[in-house]
Amino acid sequence: MTKTVYIKTVGCQMNVLDSEMVIADLKRNGYEVVDTPDAADLLLYNTCSIREQAEEKTYSALGKLRDTKDRNPEKKIGVLGCMAQKDQEVIFRRAPFVDMVVGPGQLHALPQLITNIDSGEGRQMAVSLGRTEGKQAVVARSHETFDPLRDPSMRPTPFQAYLRIQIGCDKFCTYCVVPNTRGPEQGRSPVEILSEARVLAEQGCREITLLGQTVNSYRHRSEDGETDLAGLLEQLHEIDGIERLKFVTNYPKDMTERLLTTVRDLPKCSPYLHVPAQSGSDAVLKRMKRGYTVGQYMDMFERIESILPEAAVSSDFIVGFCGETDEDFQKSVDMIERCRFKNSFIFQYSVRGGTKAAERLEDDVPREVKAQRNNELLAVQNRVAKEGNEKLRGTTVQVLVEGPSKKAGKADEDSSIVQMTGRTHCDRIVVFDGNRRQARQLLDVHVDDVTSHTLIGRVRTVELVSIGL
Ligand code: SAM
Ligand code: SF4
Repeated sequence: MTKTVYIKTVGCQMNVLDSEMVIADLKRNGYEVVDTPDAADLLLYNTCSIREQAEEKTYSALGKLRDTKDRNPEKKIGVLGCMAQKDQEVIFRRAPFVDMVVGPGQLHALPQLITNIDSGEGRQMAVSLGRTEGKQAVVARSHETFDPLRDPSMRPTPFQAYLRIQIGCDKFCTYCVVPNTRGPEQGRSPVEILSEARVLAEQGCREITLLGQTVNSYRHRSEDGETDLAGLLEQLHEIDGIERLKFVTNYPKDMTERLLTTVRDLPKCSPYLHVPAQSGSDAVLKRMKRGYTVGQYMDMFERIESILPEAAVSSDFIVGFCGETDEDFQKSVDMIERCRFKNSFIFQYSVRGGTKAAERLEDDVPREVKAQRNNELLAVQNRVAKEGNEKLRGTTVQVLVEGPSKKAGKADEDSSIVQMTGRTHCDRIVVFDGNRRQARQLLDVHVDDVTSHTLIGRVRTVELVSIGL
């Protein structure tokens, strides 16, 4: 009999990719994916621990499963991902009905853990080694995952895929759990990456986004020499069928001239760079141990502007980090004004157990002040983004069409004309009236109107057809 699995994924792109791998593996083991927990024999929660709020949401979702498990003890519940690695036994304590806790580096073990439960071995935990629990190489190996398994049906769109080129992080920013939950930084071998990219191209994938916590720090050494991100992009660029190459997330200090000129010279590379600044204040950056000053960030930014003048740059900011004064905060506002980011993700600082900031710094910015700074920074960012988008009004942009927009909704399922959405080469979101068959196509769209997050336009070819050309 076919078994069924439901998976809920929260958090970053790494988690989206991990869930795709898990489902590919489970399908190979006879599982079928269902859309609701009620219909599932196996319920999986792929979790995030970047902020407390994300964790509490997961614990609350798990709490709601207590009754389900009481009524259907044969259903299995698994907690996967960063929270599993971080909290381990705590999850069994807070939600004793959970059957499996599996860290992001151990996801390949899932089918075996299920078998163990079925053979009466009780609940199962598979987590990677902590950073100090063994030699660096041994710890690193325990965080490796099983990337070559792919399942296009699990992607938001089958023609766009994530490809992990780097595991873990060694930067140890004082606020961040990732170096603990994802382990030491490791560049995957170019041979593996290229073969996975070829599989993706054969599956009909047109756009690949390379993933790494500090993706531009990517390095892989072998007998043949060293490969960096620029070298990898050159090789990926040769693969037929792949038309767009993106990479996230960039670390400001490693944004080399060589990488920028490579992006400029390879037409498939998107002129889009997500390079989080985190703060516009040197004092805060120092306490965050980000490893650069505002001046160095601005030097990097000017390097981007001179080599890739058309590039869209986006950022992340944390507001209310330990000791952040009004003056410090104002410097983050100033930075957004100066850099005019395409968009910024803004987060209120959240204390994370096991980090240096949690151990050594006081979380002294009141909650209301964090919320207020968040709103204020977002308002500035939105204004700057709208002004940036205004420059595109009246121009034609090339859009990789993803599918019907959220607004198109179910109501329009039978309609031939629906609002479609896609992205430009610079990662700007575009909506236009079109039809579902346009998904996966690269179309020229004339921009008629803009908001801070969206370009609104019409397809050029439709326009020509409608006037008989
Ligand atoms: N590796 C990427 C980098 O360094 O930019 C991003 C990693 S993290 C998944 C994404 C974002 O979450 C970070 O850029 C940071 O802004 C935010 N973040 C990380 N830890 C946080 C914390 N403790 N509180 C609030 N935001 C946090
Ligand atoms: Fe976290 Fe810093 Fe590593 Fe990004 S670079 S994952 S913020 S430790």
